[in-house]
Amino acid sequence: MLLVLEDQITPGQRDEIKSRLHGEGCIAREITDKGRNLIGIIGKTLKTPEEYKKLEGVLDALSIQTSHKLVSREFKSEDTRVKIGNVVVGGDRIVIIAGPCAVESREQALAIAREVKKYGAVLFRGGAYKPRSSPYSFQGLEEEGLKILAEVRETTGLGVVTEMTSPTQAELMEKYVDVVQIGARNMQNFELLKCVGKMSKPVVLKRGLASTIQEWLMSAEYIAAGGNENVILCERGIRTFEPYTRNTLDLSAIPVLKKLTHLPIVIDPSHATGIREKVAPMARAAVAAGADALMIEVHNNPDKALSDGPQSLYPEQFGELTRDIYVIAPVVGKQLDYDYLKKSEVIRKIHNGGTKTAAFIGEKGAYSHKASLSYFGEDVKPLPMKSFSDIFDAVEGGEVDYGVVPVENSLSGSIHENFDLLQEHDLKIIGEITIRIKHALIVHKEASKESIKKVMGPPPALSQCKNYLAQYPEMEPVPVVATSSAVKMVKDSGDLSCAAIASTMAAGIFDMKILEESIEDNPRNFTRFVIIAREDKGHKKVGKSSIIFTTGNKPGSLFEIMKIFSEYGVNLVKLESRPIHGKPWEYMFYTDLEADIESRELSPMLEELKDKSETFRILGRY
Ligand code: PEP
Ligand code: MN
Repeated sequence: MLLVLEDQITPGQRDEIKSRLHGEGCIAREITDKGRNLIGIIGKTLKTPEEYKKLEGVLDALSIQTSHKLVSREFKSEDTRVKIGNVVVGGDRIVIIAGPCAVESREQALAIAREVKKYGAVLFRGGAYKPRSSPYSFQGLEEEGLKILAEVRETTGLGVVTEMTSPTQAELMEKYVDVVQIGARNMQNFELLKCVGKMSKPVVLKRGLASTIQEWLMSAEYIAAGGNENVILCERGIRTFEPYTRNTLDLSAIPVLKKLTHLPIVIDPSHATGIREKVAPMARAAVAAGADALMIEVHNNPDKALSDGPQSLYPEQFGELTRDIYVIAPVVGKQLDYDYLKKSEVIRKIHNGGTKTAAFIGEKGAYSHKASLSYFGEDVKPLPMKSFSDIFDAVEGGEVDYGVVPVENSLSGSIHENFDLLQEHDLKIIGEITIRIKHALIVHKEASKESIKKVMGPPPALSQCKNYLAQYPEMEPVPVVATSSAVKMVKDSGDLSCAAIASTMAAGIFDMKILEESIEDNPRNFTRFVIIAREDKGHKKVGKSSIIFTTGNKPGSLFEIMKIFSEYGVNLVKLESRPIHGKPWEYMFYTDLEADIESRELSPMLEELKDKSETFRILGRY
């Protein structure tokens, strides 16, 4: 049963409800979901929803139909995000967990950890207690292995994940590791589940070799019922009649689970396939199917590995895989962030635990909002603003820490206003992020396509849906400032003849109906955003620089500058000319280059550039 509490409920009324439930022998869990305050009642309730509705402070009482309760979507509609140090499993950033099957030695673990970190892993895995089919196989280094894992964390900054096979190991796990794993063979070891339910560490719960999704969720329920709601479900292949692979990876579990539970999902293609060459294709497919994380076995000498060598990737293969994931993830609205740990560390250090904010244009649910979440994850709070110039002013004035602004779209081109603002303000570009733009036509619940007369959206969004809109000449395009503002305006107007072009995320936030999805003319519709700040504190490994320069008004002056880049072998990925305000017919050039312009090797180039240009400014290195 789920009690929806009134917004004005008093602390006294809340305590009264809880003590009553306690008296009835039920567990009461308080949560907030989509801004609503709820109390979940677990255990045998003898009362009907009608009876609970009569309690003071209770707005509504809903019974939960599924047998899994705490972990069900009915209980909590918002996705759970499991925090492991600076890493969050379940957000917009794909979490890569990698490492050997077993910790074999200090040198082996540290060497592999350095490799996987280099290629994008943010958590390290390695077994210290190995549940092996044969009692004669390597059983793990036990406590010694846990100590090595703790050292891996100290030296690399990677959080560590390891399997716990018995409740007797709980204390050691609390002491040495960041995440405990319940292995496939122990998925229904209920004493072990009850034990990790009482622990403070997040749990990766692997699916049993022959368990249904329902049984798996009930095991997760055991952990949550014990008080530990930080559960990550891990699909690692189930046993079928097919002998070509070690197990059969059930990727359909991803969309099934996404409907049934709010818990995040990690896919382990290593144990699922058991064969090195099959791991990468299944990992790629898992991300495309909506996995939140991947767990991959990697070994620097798989032929000599003490367990699971044949399914372990060589570090370079793992690197190739993460490059593919980097490309695939944005297609499904996610990111693989190579600077994940560095960025979080820098942000935390600068802000010393205080709330960090990033301004974006429009309302919640805007693509800029999504870009902010994709870039910063949970580390920074996105803050809506009315215009791009408000964002630049707020960053410059120190009212917010960062700004997230779009600069170009793959279909509709540059957002010139932001190039001009970059020129006018003394700010730094500290990073960039590209996200896929997938538009939906959003209306009131009662509206239908026939009733639509006006379609609101910012000019780039209207232009990206030109062909779609051309099919409906009766729909008049109305330009507004941002996609999410369009949704809010349609919502506030109550007008059934108005529609908005925006993301499905915006439709969810404003509780509106999606009339049609994917209405952009070309599915390869991506927008690049830059992250602006007053100062760059080294948020990212530098691979790119942005500059603004002006040249003399004489033949060949731009060519002179281009020649310098050519001579130093530096690739330009953007060159844009913009009029200089107050100087009619004079232009400045905005350029992105694939190099660190302040690196030692390029310092002669920088001198030549400064020499040959009239004005020269570095906007950022990122
Ligand atoms: C492991 O992760 O090394 C392992 C033993 O996994 P599973 O429990 O899925 O077999
Ligand atoms: Mn293994």
